[in-house]
Amino acid sequence: MNPMIDITPYIFKIQRFSIHDGPGIRTTLFFQGCPLTCRWCHNPESQAMGLAPGKSSGKSSGKFPGTSPGQLVEILVKEIEKDRIFYDDSGGGVTFSGGEPLACPELLLPLIEACRDREIHTCLDTSGFAPFEILKAAAAKADLVLFDIKIIKDRDHLAFTGKPVSRILENLKALSTLKVNLKLRFPLIPNMTDRRENIGQIIDFLTRETRYRDIHILPFHTIAEGKYEMLKMKNELKHISPPTREHVDKVRQTFESAGFKTTIGG
Ligand code: SF4
Repeated sequence: MNPMIDITPYIFKIQRFSIHDGPGIRTTLFFQGCPLTCRWCHNPESQAMGLAPGKSSGKSSGKFPGTSPGQLVEILVKEIEKDRIFYDDSGGGVTFSGGEPLACPELLLPLIEACRDREIHTCLDTSGFAPFEILKAAAAKADLVLFDIKIIKDRDHLAFTGKPVSRILENLKALSTLKVNLKLRFPLIPNMTDRRENIGQIIDFLTRETRYRDIHILPFHTIAEGKYEMLKMKNELKHISPPTREHVDKVRQTFESAGFKTTIGG
């Protein structure tokens, strides 16, 4: 890594040997900054936007003071390529997660392209909350899109994630008409997303408005508790236990009896 350039305002973590965010063994790049503030966020440190446009202090201007997207891509691709042997052996690749990678298209889009040029499998992990043109451009370049669907009712989505849901649903509908390899992910969060009414509305929406019939159910876990304490952030799920196996099975059956293929985790 180039010691002169600090990547942390853009990428807060590089996780190697990940087996959760796409096929095979993966290197996951976590982008800094997310427009949402989900109450169950496992990466609360990623939510703050790294550098606001215009906060220039160095040679370059705008969002990338002291560097440029091109330089960052070069540095990051070198990091990604270090694990190439694992991708080749396992059918893995690189996953762009966050935070919200679509919040920094100046870096994300050339990064996906650079990986594609090197025949490295790319996966975009997104909340779907972004202008459609940016989502469409990234989805068209990526080999796989992991797209979260959380809550259908606008009022609840706003209350639990800080943003209304309409843009996400419109984006998903529009992606469904394109040739995009997409997998849905449903975070199963007690008392928030796991309500029977919400699950019914998700099934209705997907059945009516999209061609997607494959969903990964991601049960809530308490792994991020320590992070909230360290960051002195309010953890609204502090006293919430992960859903029981029976509950997860029940949700799985609900999706399956509506014709969905399900996977737990992933
Ligand atoms: S979209 Fe993801 S990164 Fe952003 S707040 Fe929600 S859980 Fe956290």
